[in-house]
Amino acid sequence: MTDILTPTQRSQRMSLIRGKNTRLERRVRTLIHSMGFRYRLHRYDLPGKPDLVFARQKKVIFVHGCFFHRHKGCSLARLPKSRTEYWIPKLEGNAKRDARNAAVLKSLGWQIMLVWECQIKNEHVLGLRVQKFLSF
Ligand SMILES: [Zn+2]
Repeated sequence: MTDILTPTQRSQRMSLIRGKNTRLERRVRTLIHSMGFRYRLHRYDLPGKPDLVFARQKKVIFVHGCFFHRHKGCSLARLPKSRTEYWIPKLEGNAKRDARNAAVLKSLGWQIMLVWECQIKNEHVLGLRVQKFLSF
């Protein structure tokens, strides 16, 4: 099966997805801020450039889109039917890079929480998880 999108359409689609991740991140940030926690964004000196950094607690939160970061068992992470020779190595590469970054962060003494795209719609549950993660 061939790709139904032209390269231009494909890159438009990709930038839409990037924009979507920014929106997801913003929702998580708004929630966490409203809970009274303060953080820094995108520390470039840390592996994987964590989305939210709580330096005093030495904790970081990553907000991950389910598709690009290969959320295991998640319906949003289903592989496209076309151009699998392109997508599989790319997505596997993302997942490997995430795992490597997480391992380095842990070795430096950071604690990590992942927030997946599909978990954001339930703000109550997410809020409880964040509270628990940042309180201990
Ligand atoms: Zn998911």
